[in-house]
Amino acid sequence: MRNPLDTLRPDVRAMHSYVVQDATGMVKLDAMENPHRLSPALQAELGERLGAVALNRYPDGRVDYLRQVLAAHTGLPAGYGLILGNGSDEIINLLAIACNRPGATVLAPVPGFVMYAMGAQLLGLNFVGVPLTADFELDTPAMLAAIAQHQPAIVYLAYPNNPTANLWDDAAIEQIIEAAPGLVVIDEAYQPFSSKSYLDRLARHPHVLLMRTLSKFGLAGVRLGYLIGPQALVTEIDKVRPPYNVSVLNCECALFALAHLEVFAVQAQEIRTQRAIVSAALGVLPGVKVWPSDANMLLVRVPDAGKTFDGMKAKGVLVKNVSKMHPLLANCVRITIGTAEENERMLAAFQTSI
Ligand code: PMP
Repeated sequence: MRNPLDTLRPDVRAMHSYVVQDATGMVKLDAMENPHRLSPALQAELGERLGAVALNRYPDGRVDYLRQVLAAHTGLPAGYGLILGNGSDEIINLLAIACNRPGATVLAPVPGFVMYAMGAQLLGLNFVGVPLTADFELDTPAMLAAIAQHQPAIVYLAYPNNPTANLWDDAAIEQIIEAAPGLVVIDEAYQPFSSKSYLDRLARHPHVLLMRTLSKFGLAGVRLGYLIGPQALVTEIDKVRPPYNVSVLNCECALFALAHLEVFAVQAQEIRTQRAIVSAALGVLPGVKVWPSDANMLLVRVPDAGKTFDGMKAKGVLVKNVSKMHPLLANCVRITIGTAEENERMLAAFQTSI
């Protein structure tokens, strides 16, 4: 019998696992989570609700209801529908499965969210990353040239982008959408913190889809992402979704959160307020550059990112050193906005680690 590992794809064996840093006992500012927990009263109410869920049945009925609630919450254009995923990560894979034809390409600006490339690679599609400009804007001529050359099945535009935290220029987005021969997915994972959304422009283009998630909103542990698009397109893509991909527990937590929107709206506002405070405090430090942010993170350039990351970690604050992700991110760290108290600890650790 041969080595069972030899049965696996060589490219899978050559891959690195998605690294999740151990944050035990640390101020965790590495993954754009909402730092606020539910109040004890709400947590208890949710516990009671989850205690009453029928776990012996598959989740379909309740998930259909969640889809309707999310559609109403989002305010879909007429004739639009949505697909639910186990986080937007799963939606990215579903899109790759649905578009996977020989030679199909996924295209996105880089540095960007790593799952676009990973989803493409795992499903056997080509991935083309088009570098941003040095100031992390879309390089529109380069994007248009790459679209003309590669004729991508899917173009991803994260709006705002991760890890650069910025929104793209509206005219550049429209040019890219008009040039794209396939689907364009506007990824609004950070919409709760953003000054803009593409939602009210969505119905202009039948090949544009909008992806959102409840993760950054405050439910990263729940795993619920969704894709909004013209119903005919959504119906076709939904065929590749594994039945029951969203559990009754995910579903019940999401419904609970959507029934308490005001709590999350206050948290998002608090995070935006803290973002301004942290950004100003970091921006005045010598040798430090902070980019504008429409998300719950700041991209920060320091003289030596390795030193800053290690120094902060030694002081109990975990951020993400993104320097190795892309040459444009040399000496950059990405800092998630935490609670006021966490941010103070972060700033103290940062100041003594540059
Ligand atoms: N899109 C972007 C741009 C992200 O940064 C992330 C998470 N970091 C996601 C999507 C994935 O979100 P989810 O938790 O819904 O899988």
